[in-house]
Amino acid sequence: MAANETAPRSHDGTGVTPLSGVGSAVWYDPNADLELGEPPAAETVDPDAERARFEDARDRARTELERERERTAERVGEDEAAVFDAHKQFVDDPQIVDGVEAAVDDGLPAEHAVDAAFEDPIAQFEGMDGRMAERADDLRDVRDRLLRLLTDADRVDLASLSTGSVLLAERLTPSDTAQLDSERVAGFATIEGGRTSHAAIFARSLGIPAVVGVGDDLESIDDGADVLVDGEDGAVIADPTPDQRERAAAGRDVEVRSEPVATADGRSVEVAANVGTPAELEGAVAQGADGIGLFRTEFLFLDREAPPDEDEQFEVYREALAAFPEGRVVVRTLDIGGDKPIPYLDMPDPENPFLGERGIRRSLGPDADLFETQLRALLRANAAEPGTLSVMFPMVATVSELEAALETVASVADDLASEGLDREVPELGVMIETPSAALTAEALAERVDFLSIGTNDLTQYVMAAARENDRVAELHDPCEPAVLRAIERTVAAGHAGDAWVGMCGEMAGDPDLTELLVGLGLDELSMSAVTIPDVKANIAAVDTADAETLADSATDAAASAAVRERVANRDSDSDPDPDSETP
Ligand code: PEP
Ligand code: MG
Repeated sequence: MAANETAPRSHDGTGVTPLSGVGSAVWYDPNADLELGEPPAAETVDPDAERARFEDARDRARTELERERERTAERVGEDEAAVFDAHKQFVDDPQIVDGVEAAVDDGLPAEHAVDAAFEDPIAQFEGMDGRMAERADDLRDVRDRLLRLLTDADRVDLASLSTGSVLLAERLTPSDTAQLDSERVAGFATIEGGRTSHAAIFARSLGIPAVVGVGDDLESIDDGADVLVDGEDGAVIADPTPDQRERAAAGRDVEVRSEPVATADGRSVEVAANVGTPAELEGAVAQGADGIGLFRTEFLFLDREAPPDEDEQFEVYREALAAFPEGRVVVRTLDIGGDKPIPYLDMPDPENPFLGERGIRRSLGPDADLFETQLRALLRANAAEPGTLSVMFPMVATVSELEAALETVASVADDLASEGLDREVPELGVMIETPSAALTAEALAERVDFLSIGTNDLTQYVMAAARENDRVAELHDPCEPAVLRAIERTVAAGHAGDAWVGMCGEMAGDPDLTELLVGLGLDELSMSAVTIPDVKANIAAVDTADAETLADSATDAAASAAVRERVANRDSDSDPDPDSETP
């Protein structure tokens, strides 16, 4: 690719790790050798022989998956490795197996039959939103594994890429990503994929600079080109300038502060970590988290065949409390539904899952048993382990839902008492994720100890823009004045009701917004552990009065562009005009 005469063009996507790397582009096309061509005439195909070939390929696929599962558990973590269990289930999925056998009976060779049998299930998942769409990646991964085994195609060995490679691909499957060696790979970028794709999750766990969802524009970068992957800003730059390389190579030089921080004028702001698995607790401590502000418990329920029992959960919650004996650990009760389906639960497939039965709606409805089991485990863990446990409920829309949840906590505590088991009711809170919760925050705050604003969902519901739909990504912006006003009123309502107010959506971890969030009055910010050092450093530099002026100006703005401009111009514009309505 010819170098630009001016600054090299940046190909923008979604950065998924706040790390940068420079290296040599290697395009990866896992399907290059999997072109099947036309099938032979049906009468020349022996269905019995083809069934036997299919069985053999499935056996070998299971063996490979088991090996990759073990390797991933060792290198990345037990929870990430669970994706290979899901792949094993796809290998044995009756719909797919029946589909292949029927196609073989119709005269197709096993490889063409596999290709045909996966087509509909992949298309079905592709038509869905968010994490469901990413299931299509899993299915493709399993299909390609079977095709490779059936056609003896070579597998590109990603584990032995040359040192300093930057991998470019349309998409990376979990099997692809799990092979990457962070010592060798300088980064990767993909045309497709979102922040919650497996590729993104593995990149974060492995510490590989990565940008996903760049779009077809990425194809303009040639094999062998020098490429910079900036996982922080979500930019992929071909032929970077010496200055850009130097900055990428210098890496991040941010001091880890293990002590709680306060603003320059002495206002304490708690900085906590969001974790999705116990494996992430250690990283949270290492990055200086004061505690856990959001422990997503869905991981306990995903990629398995039955829900975890009370004792298994008890151990996990104890582990989380033990990691932060001094800090607070906020565990969120099960938040499934929407984009988080669980195969073994009866979950109808509604037209619009985000507006259906999710979070607390399921816990008070079809998953009432799971909810009670989870609360039992939480109350017992709180009694068994020193530390401060806090429990919050997701997707609350009405005061009566909150009251029903609080009643369940009380009745679970009574049950445990009558069984003679040690239990301690934790601090209780509610997530503010729906416009209705933000608008009734006064009544919610009166009934709990804390509110935690989930800006990922709050933004999608305030703006009517699905959180993982690229086509409306511009609208899914927490800096939209409407979202800021919802945050502002939630903080005021929480404080009026003597509840502390935190934020655990992605917005909390954006270091550019720290001053704004302090100005909005948040008591706690919870984020991916990697951004904690930057946010702590930013808090320490904030003057509360200036931050409040910024927040007033931002909430009065007419557009998110104006908000971001005011945030960006803090240093040069110390007296923003709150009446200005133009971006
Ligand atoms: C949120 O909605 O902001 C949130 C933190 O919850 P989740 O991203 O798990 O839906
Ligand atoms: Mg949410």
